[in-house]
Parts: sequence; C-alpha cells; structure tokens
Amino acid sequence: MTIQSKPNAAGAEHKQLQHVKHYINGKFIKSEQTFENVNPYTNQIINHIAEGRKQEMDLAVSSAKRAFEEGPWGFLKLEKRMAYMEHIAALIEEEIEELSYLESLDTGLPISQTRKMASRAAENFRFYSRMVQTKLHGEAYTADDQFLNYTVYKPLGPIGLITPWNAPFMLETWKIAPALATGNTVILKPAELSPLTAGKLSEIIHKAELPPGVFNVVHGFGETAGAALVSHPDVKAISFTGETKTGSIIIKNAADTLKKTSMELGGKSPLIVFEDADTDRALDAAVWGIFSFNGERCTANSRLLLHKDVKSSFVEKLKERIENIVMGDPLNSDTQLGPLIGVDHCRKVKRYIELAEKEGCDVVQGTVPENLMDGNFVPPTLLLNAMNEMRVCQEEIFGPVMSVIEFETEEEAIRLANSVPYGLAGYVWTNDLKRGHRVAQAVEAGMLWINSHNVRDLRIPFGGMKASGIGREGGHYAIFEFYCEPKVIHTALGNHHIPQFGKRKEL
Ligand code: NAD
Repeated sequence: MTIQSKPNAAGAEHKQLQHVKHYINGKFIKSEQTFENVNPYTNQIINHIAEGRKQEMDLAVSSAKRAFEEGPWGFLKLEKRMAYMEHIAALIEEEIEELSYLESLDTGLPISQTRKMASRAAENFRFYSRMVQTKLHGEAYTADDQFLNYTVYKPLGPIGLITPWNAPFMLETWKIAPALATGNTVILKPAELSPLTAGKLSEIIHKAELPPGVFNVVHGFGETAGAALVSHPDVKAISFTGETKTGSIIIKNAADTLKKTSMELGGKSPLIVFEDADTDRALDAAVWGIFSFNGERCTANSRLLLHKDVKSSFVEKLKERIENIVMGDPLNSDTQLGPLIGVDHCRKVKRYIELAEKEGCDVVQGTVPENLMDGNFVPPTLLLNAMNEMRVCQEEIFGPVMSVIEFETEEEAIRLANSVPYGLAGYVWTNDLKRGHRVAQAVEAGMLWINSHNVRDLRIPFGGMKASGIGREGGHYAIFEFYCEPKVIHTALGNHHIPQFGKRKEL
C-alpha cells in the first residue's frame, strides 16, 4: 500500500512513499503493528513504519548468527567481500538525490546538508574497504628463537547497531561499513523518528545482493526493539549513538550477557575565542557550528566563551547573523535552518529558552516567518550574559541555541570549558599557537579543533570523554578496537623445556 504525503508548504510535491518494512534474512518483512512517521516541516503523517518487537528481533538475530556461522560472509575472500563494499558505495552514490530527499523529509535537516551527508555515507563504505585491505594486520614477535607469537584480528559475530535521529544515514553507515568490512553480520535498529533512509539502505543492500542475513534492519522503539537487541544472548556487541542517559541504560542491560559496548553520547562543547583571534573566521565557525544541522548536532558549540575584550563586538555581529539565517522548507536548497525533529523535542528546546530567561539570560532570537508556523521551528537563539553554572549551560539542549559566556584569563577559559559533565568536542580560536595547543590539551574533550570549524578526517578517532562516551569510532579504532577481537597465536619453534609434573624420576 502506498500513501501520498502532504506537500511541503514551499510547494514541493512529494513522491508516493511506501510503508517501510523490516529487512530480515534478505527479505522485506511486515509487522502486525506499525507506527506513524511524521514530517517535521508540516507535522503531517508521511507513511507508516513496521514496528518490530522481540519476535522480529529474534528472527533478525538468528539470521545474522546463521549468516556469520554458516557463511559465506565470514569465509569470503577479502577481495570478494570488499567488492560488495565498493558496490554498496556506488549504489549509494547513484541514489544521493533520493537519499538526501528522504533524509530531509524525515528529519527537517536542510537538503544542502543532507546531500553532503549522503556522499559521506558512500565514502564510509569505500574508506573501510581500503582500511581493512591495507591496515587490518596483526603483529608478530619471535622470543629467543624458540617461539613465534602473532596476532590476528577476528570478527565478533552478529553486532547490534543502535542509532539516533539527528544524522541518521551518516551515523548508520559509519557503523555498518566497518562492521561488515571486518566480516561481522549486523542488526540495525534505526531511530524511530527517522526511519526512511534506513529503509532505503535496505533496498540498496538488497540490490547489492549481500548474502541473506548479513545485514538486517528491525524498525521500532528503543524500549522494545532496542532493548530486545541489547539483551539478546547471541548479539556479541552493541555500538550505540544517542543520549547519555540511554547509553547508561544500555550498558546496564548489556551487562547481563557480558556484551562489548561502544558509546557515542551527548555534548555541551565550548568554542573559546581569545582576544587575539581572527574574529571574523571565529564568527563564521561559531555560527556554523551551532546552527548547522538545525543545532541538533552532538559536536555543536553550544557554549561560546568570549574574551571580555572581544565580547561586545562579537555579540553585535552574532545578532546580525541570526537575523539573516534563512529558515524554511528543508527541501529547499537555500534553507539554512529547518524545523526540529518533532513536536516534543521542539517543546523541550523552547522550555530551555524560557528557563534561560528565568535564570537571568538575555535571550536574543531570529524571527520565524509567518508561513512556517506549522513546523517545529525554533529560531536561531543566543543566550547572552549566561553563567556557566546555569542549567542552560550544563545540559544538552540539542537545538539552535547558544549560550554566550564571558571570560578574562586563559585559566578561567579552561576552567569554564571543563566545568560541565560532558567532554565531546572543543574549539579554540587564537593566533598564539602555543596557547592554542596548551588550551586544546587542557580542555577535557575527545576532539579539539584549533582555528578550525568541525572538519573530520575519517582516519582519526571520533568520540568523547566524561559523559560524552566510552570508546571511539572512526579510523582504525573502529576496526581494531571494536569490531574485531585480537587473537594471539603462540607457536613453539623448537623443543623448549616443559615442566614434567607427576613424571617418575628415572633411578
Ligand atoms: P536516544 O538516546 O533517545 O535514542 C537513540 C537510539 O536509542 C534510538 O534508536 C532509540 O530508539 C534507541 N533507544 C532508546 N532507548 C533504548 C533502550 N532502552 N534500549 C535500546 N535502545 C534504546 O537519542 P536521540 O534523541 O535519538 O539522539 C540524540 C542524542 O544523540 C543527543 O544526545 C546527541 O548528542 C547524541 N549523539 C551523539 C553523537 C556522538 O557521536 N557522540 C552523534 C550523534 C548524536
């Protein structure tokens, strides 16, 4: 059955969208129950999604287990497995327009940004294909010419991947690509608020003719489908990206079956501008860093720390920028800021803005145009004269809202940067490179940028410390540390001495 989703207010006619099914053991499967998928721009229903629970999850895990244990995936020649990876990348590239359309329709993210994310997703498959072929090798040691010890990296088995709604396709492929490239099989539980591109990826992978059971998708809610995946005894590891409190629940639930877990969690990242910084570039970076991806970005610079000497001119320029940020239909290429993911999240962000006023901030906002009132729009928002101890500076708001905090000394900037529970990212702007490095090393975060906005290199580790996560993704961290088990083989090269317990002494 197909239904017609409502046109966006900007007039874009949407195609008919199929209801989304699970993808289990190489087949598209319905569930008895479904849930509504809502367009954040119009708050109208787009389509319905199969709602998986324990039964569907059990089916997916058993098919992933069979595909891992009986093959052919785990036994394929490397070249053949990587040919699948390259094929998936090529198919994603052919579908970039469709994927970015679906992603923007589903999440409200501006299409100019989802196009880039879709290209990045294709690159995730190519990158991990190259990396596994060239870098996934072990070590070898000889000891006293009597032993040879060497390591090999083995896949774990069926792996559960649980992803959020804020950059769904990019984050899903960032987990799927290294998991598959290293020979594991996968069960993906996508976020219930943004299932469309995971549905499309199932079609792409089906077209690439991956052996049945290697890649499975079960849609549904966290407390049911997600929890069934986490507690399943045959799932060897869970890679999770999402909120800190969900991560903590998942670690607890995974403990019963002693699963390996990787946690990419929330953030409250500082962007520090010193008095000697190139303030024009820092301004561009600060505005992009908080208002791109609708502010629903884990590495967003949601706290702006400004040196007192540059504060007033910087704030004036910020005010001008937020007036001019283009809000609109996420499917329009000119849109810079789209609607937030859903009504509940939009209310939550607005409540934080009210709280900021109560806490004593001076709230300055852009203006939502009249014609956008049906969507979940929050205008670009500055919380001026904020103090780091305020709740709005301590808690992740996850919207287009930036607190502005003044500092005087380097020590104070570091102290403020570190006085939050989170430690995901940080940005330092100064023309004194010694200070740049000093501060970057002192800020408690997994990733720091000096005089740069958030540009990622797929080879380096991605992730946070403190309440922002445990473990790292990206680069060789993903394949060596998470998706593989190092195995050591000790081999004797001669007849070394072995103690002979219980052997009768020769008289
Ligand atoms: P969320 O934690 O609400 O949901 C994430 C996923 O977990 C969803 O698929 C959900 O269904 C599932 N889930 C929920 N409860 C579960 C349970 N009990 N057992 C198993 N699965 C469960 O997060 P969200 O609101 O979708 O995403 C936003 C959050 O993600 C923000 O905090 C953001 O900072 C974080 N994030 C972090 C990174 C990073 O790399 N550190 C990247 C993107 C987003």
